[in-house]
Amino acid sequence: MAVRQADVVLVGGGVMSATLGMMLKQLDPSLDIVMVERLDHVAHESTDGWNNAGTGHAGYCELNYTPETDDGDVSIERALKINAQFEVSLQFWSYLVEQGVLPDPKSFINRTPHQSFVWGEKDVAFLKRRHEKLSAHHLFREMEYTESPDVLEEWMPLVVNHRDPMQRVAATRINHGSDVDFGSLTRSMVKWLETQDNFELMLSCPVHYIDQRDNGRWKVRVKNQKTGELTKLEAGFVFLGAGGGALPLLQKSGIDEARGYGGFPVSGQWLVCGKPDIVGQHNSKVYGKAPIGAPPMSVPHLDTRIINGEPALLFGPFAGFTTRFLKQGSIFDLIGSVRTTNLKPMLSVSKSNMDLTRYLIGEVFQSHTDRVASLRNFFPDAREEDWKLQMAGQRVQIIKETEDGGGKLEFGTEIVAAKDGTLAALLGASPGASTAANAMLDVLERCFPEKMKSAQWQERIRDLVPSYGQSLVDDEALLNKVRGRTLSTLKLT
Ligand SMILES: Cc1cc2nc3c(=O)[nH]c(=O)nc-3n(C[C@H](O)[C@H](O)[C@H](O)COP(=O)(O)OP(=O)(O)OC[C@H]3O[C@@H](n4cnc5c(N)ncnc54)[C@H](O)[C@@H]3O)c2cc1C
Repeated sequence: MAVRQADVVLVGGGVMSATLGMMLKQLDPSLDIVMVERLDHVAHESTDGWNNAGTGHAGYCELNYTPETDDGDVSIERALKINAQFEVSLQFWSYLVEQGVLPDPKSFINRTPHQSFVWGEKDVAFLKRRHEKLSAHHLFREMEYTESPDVLEEWMPLVVNHRDPMQRVAATRINHGSDVDFGSLTRSMVKWLETQDNFELMLSCPVHYIDQRDNGRWKVRVKNQKTGELTKLEAGFVFLGAGGGALPLLQKSGIDEARGYGGFPVSGQWLVCGKPDIVGQHNSKVYGKAPIGAPPMSVPHLDTRIINGEPALLFGPFAGFTTRFLKQGSIFDLIGSVRTTNLKPMLSVSKSNMDLTRYLIGEVFQSHTDRVASLRNFFPDAREEDWKLQMAGQRVQIIKETEDGGGKLEFGTEIVAAKDGTLAALLGASPGASTAANAMLDVLERCFPEKMKSAQWQERIRDLVPSYGQSLVDDEALLNKVRGRTLSTLKLT
């Protein structure tokens, strides 16, 4: 069988592979890139509009990015970092829109105010302190705070109508927050890539074998599910952008850096409402506080969504126990990922996370009535018959070996790269798609270090992301310049 030689193989057709493919093609159009996807569409797993919440995560409304410290203060470092990372994505998308590579930005990103809403003395005090600290920083200068019933009525009528008037409540708002249809964005990126020379998309082609040759190049084997045809690929660089499927492939690669990693899958569900008279009354993302024991990614929120151009309301997520790593995966995914090298970390995590286990079991046994009761914390007038349950995507949280040989459950996103720079994988799911551009720059720096230092790539990368190499957290003038452009190009003002 002939071997298809390539410079780069991107495994998976989600937002991460598409972003990396787009960056590489912009930096060097002559690179020969093959994207292999197991399903018959790209962007059909976590990246699909209905499988994620579409929040352009910028730390504006997500209270879990600003935890309370032991001395009762609020730590804002994580929110600053994520905000600056999201600005990198906004710059990259702006460049692509300006060049006509991406279509009208409204097809994938829409201005949606980001609001946080809390109730009770303790949480109101927390939100007030959070606002004081964040609004003192240039990244969050526009953040507004209110406890006024009249202002709240204007900001989030569905949330405050018929709420107990004796309950103390407060909210913050940033008007230039966004709702992102990552599915639409990814499909547009791949559509453009397909028009380029030296780019091939192989659909219905799961990768089932990956191995490194003595010369450092990778052999990748795929089998077309529709025709049964086997294809052997060989490439100097492989990116495992397979979402929940990245961990098993990373393990198959056998690189030393994969040792000790495990995965903990959590499924998700939303309540969705498409009734125009209700949808029309809410135009924001309203994030609350996560229940005690809940993992950080299960912070409840009531969101305006615009998916494939259609507005809807979404509330959730409700988490669930699953053993699949992909929504369209196998029930044996979890057990199949256990190795002698990660058994101890995995067992140690299952023992030390009883709060999480209890939380997941509680979520699994919720009825529709229970779920709508949770929704009523955000929308007191919600009626069961107006909402239906819909499956979201799977998240595979990272389990990492600790120095003492135990394990730790991580809720972030991490790039694992081989030390020779020939292979990288993206693990984890939060903050996820919003920080895709920043994560893929990290891949480029680690796997293409010489090219990234070249004058040609340095110049091109600054076309794509003008703030590259500088800090938006420290440089207010730079942020103002960058944000002025992105908000206007992406029609977010
Ligand atoms: C419930 C939920 C809510 C979320 N909310 C947000 C949010 O509000 N904002 C945000 O920024 N992010 C959010 N995320 C995270 C975001 O969706 C992910 O970070 C992002 O979509 C991951 O993209 P990906 O390309 O890595 O993975 P995916 O989109 O899952 O793509 C991976 C692709 O690889 C393919 N694949 C898998 N195995 C193989 C194989 N062996 N061979 C070939 N192909 C393979 C899959 O079919 C899939 O198409 C959320 C995720 C979930 C689950």
